[in-house]
Formats: sequence, C-alpha cells, structure tokens
Amino acid sequence: MSVFTVENPATGQVIAEIADGTPADAVAAVDAAAERLPEWSALAPRTRSELLTRVRELMLRDAGDLARLIARENGKSLADARGEVTYAAEFFRWYAEEAVRPHGEYGPSPAGGTRTIVTHRPVGVAALVTPWNFPAAMATRKIAPALAAGCTVVLKPAAETPLTALAIARLITEAGIPDGVVTVVPTTDAAGVVTAWLEDPRVRKISFTGSTGVGRLLLRQAADRVVNTSMELGGNAPFIVTASADLGAAVEGAMLAKFRNGGQACTAANRFYVHADVAAEFTARLGARVEALRVGPADDGHDIGPLISARALTGVTRLVDDAVARGAVIAHRAPAPAGAGHFYPPTVLTGLGADDPLLAEEIFGPVAPIVVWDHLAGLLAAVDNTEYGLAAYVFAELAEALRIAESLDAGMVGVNRGLVSDPSAPFGGVKQSGLGREGARAGLEEYLETQYFSVAW
Ligand code: NAD
Repeated sequence: MSVFTVENPATGQVIAEIADGTPADAVAAVDAAAERLPEWSALAPRTRSELLTRVRELMLRDAGDLARLIARENGKSLADARGEVTYAAEFFRWYAEEAVRPHGEYGPSPAGGTRTIVTHRPVGVAALVTPWNFPAAMATRKIAPALAAGCTVVLKPAAETPLTALAIARLITEAGIPDGVVTVVPTTDAAGVVTAWLEDPRVRKISFTGSTGVGRLLLRQAADRVVNTSMELGGNAPFIVTASADLGAAVEGAMLAKFRNGGQACTAANRFYVHADVAAEFTARLGARVEALRVGPADDGHDIGPLISARALTGVTRLVDDAVARGAVIAHRAPAPAGAGHFYPPTVLTGLGADDPLLAEEIFGPVAPIVVWDHLAGLLAAVDNTEYGLAAYVFAELAEALRIAESLDAGMVGVNRGLVSDPSAPFGGVKQSGLGREGARAGLEEYLETQYFSVAW
C-alpha cells in the first residue's frame, strides 16, 4: 500500500501519512455504497433525520479538535476554522429537518380521466469531490443532503486536506450510520479515482466543488453515461460601493468578504468597485484595517494564515507583481512572516484601470484591488464582463442596492453584507460558476429524482 503525506502549510511540516487510494479502492467504495443503498434509502425518514442530528451533536462535541485539525492541514486561522465547524455542522441540522418534509403532488389530470401522483426518490450512489479551502463544510454541504435524500456516497477530499473528511467520517460512524453509507477515499490520483466512479454504472450522481477547469472536465466525462451533475465552481466576485453606502458597514463587509479564510474562498470579493466620491475614504479605512491584520500560524494571536501551497504563493505573487508592473500601487499592506510557511501579506492595491487583467483572474489570496468608478452603466457592464457568476456584494442605500443586485448576473448577492453562505439559502452560481444549488430545499433536490404515476381512474 502506498501512502502520501499531509503538510501544515504554516510550517511545511508533515503532519500525517495516509493511504493513497487507488482506482481499485474507488470501486470497492462503490461496492459498499451500492450494497448499503437499498437498506439506507428504505429507512424511515425520521430515523435518517435522527442519525443526521446525532452527527451534528458529535461535530459540536468535537468542535475544538475539528477546528484545530482544519487549521493544521489547511492553515486558516483558528477563528476561521471554528466558524467553519459550526457552519459545516449546521448542514446536518438543516437536512435532518428537511429529511422529514417530503414534497409530493396528487391531483386530477386536466382532462379528468386520470390521476397524477408525483413523488421523489433518491438518485442512488453519489460521488462527491471536494476542494481544500473548506475541508469540513464543502464535505458536509454534500453529505448531509445526500444522506437525507436516501443516497449513499463516496467522497474524494482534496489531497491537501484529507484529514478533516476522515475525522467527519469517523463521527458519522459513531453516530450509528452503517459502514459503507459514507466512504472517504483520499488519494493523490484524483483523475484515476473519479474516472473509476464516473465509469461505474452504479454511480448515478456526481457533485463537485472546485475550479471551473476541473468542473468542465468532469462534465465532459459525466456526459458519457449521462450522470446527474451538480457543479460548484470558481468565482470572481465584484464588491460594489456606491456614494450612498454606509462606509463603516462597507469596510466591515469588505474585511469579511475579502479576508475571511485569507481570501481563499470561491465567494471571496475579488475586485472592489468604489464610487469616486467615497473611494479615498473607503480605501483609507479599509487600508487601516488591513495593516492591522496579524498574519501567522493558526493560533489565537493571528487573523490570517498561509496560502495552501508554495504554488498558490507563487501564483498570487505573480498576479500582484504583474499588476504593479502595469502601474498598480500597493497602497496598504500588513507584514507577513518569512520562512517555511506560504504566507502572503494582506494587500490593498489601487491605481488599476477597469480593464486590468488582474480583475479577470480568481486571486484566491488576501489581495484587494480597488477600481474607482463614476458611471453606473459603465460599472455594471464591467462587473458582468466575466465568465463567472457566483457571488457579488453591493453596499448602497437599500433600494439602490437592490436595484443593482437584481441587475447582476450572479447566483448570490450580499446586500450590505459581506457574507452569503447560509445552510438555509441556495448557494450556487450562474454562467461558468456552476450548475445546481447547495443548501436550502434546493440542495436536497440535487439528490432526488422525480417519479410520477399516471393512475387510471
Ligand atoms: P481543484 O479544481 O483543483 O480541485 C477540487 C477537487 O477536484 C479536489 O478534490 C481535486 O483533487 C479534484 N481534482 C483535481 N483534478 C481532478 C481531475 N482531473 N479529475 C477529478 N478530480 C480532480 O480546485 P481547488 O484548487 O481544490 O479549489 C479551489 C477552487 O474551488 C476555486 O476555483 C474555487 O473558486 C472553487 N470553489 C468553489 C466553491 C463553490 O461552492 N462554488 C467552493 C469552494 C471552492
């Protein structure tokens, strides 16, 4: 059996060695999921609901350990890791509640000669593939609705952060959910494992969270067997501030939308568009907050951790250096530690043109580029000029903010708020940011097929 190592991105130290899953292991996981499917899907919804409730209780019991584990393998601050555990556990509560609320229909056909019954059934064995940036929440946002719907699952976590998924799987077992209902397959051979799943006729669903590039690849592969797909992909969120905005709220929102998780979030504000009347004040106030950020390994003294890898650090460094070479200015910056960790200094960039190439890239780091605008029509055209359409943020007097929000090509808009993630709300994007939704009732429907009976009368 070969193994691979997991490193702490704050220190470069190896924190674990784990078995490296093979395509054969992937098939064995499907064997287990397929064997368990009839029994799991036939359980009373109330029983499944109570098991999900128990998983949440266990996650909250172990919240401190889970947060430390997330912080060690992902690098995020302890405060961010604690927030992620609470958010991740909440999906088990929400879907424990949804599990017992089936939706169906019964009624006469228009001509009156038949009755129509509409019901829903679990889609079957679901393959789940998750990224490293929220190692707990991206897993539970899929596992909880899949189990509530009556599906069994196989999960491939990112190779950078497999330990959190394994810890959650242990709690799922401790809660009393039978072995084989959820199997985690960590691997460095992502393509081999996921291809084995997509080629297996027993796998009826793939739910993927990650980059748009890999999402496109999996959509092509899924096409061969017409596998049901849900795709949560990349983003390029605009953060719009108008002259009517409450600047205190806008700066607070910017800190959350940009610097939570060190900017490594698909919903991270990626480009700031600030009205000329308030740009100087907004930039100064945001800059003061950014300069006060404490960057370092995850402990209570630090707000921001390292980027996930040396490659990520090189990528963010190159994006900023190129922008500066084109004339952008590093207006504010917090110090970041040197050494083995992949730390990037939180940075506010000004002096960018509205067509600067940086604004087209998903930065995935603690960098806030600010563009100044003064004509709304031009702003809105620039904002939607992207292949992405995941999140957006608008700070303005409420009616103005809602008018702008309604006009944006985005799946989610934070209106005078810097956070859109909420288990009770449908999370997802338009355009090349994805297909389908997670969270809310919609997140359960991703794991259900509709079936109807036409009844002779
Ligand atoms: P990634 O696409 O590189 O990896 C995501 C997952 O796909 C990992 O588990 C990885 O091992 C796997 N993978 C990689 N290549 C594969 C292949 N050829 N076949 C099968 N699986 C493969 O993304 P990442 O770097 O881990 O995560 C960052 C990206 O995820 C960003 O673009 C971010 O916006 C996006 N993201 C989106 C959401 C959302 O809800 N829309 C949430 C978090 C992250």
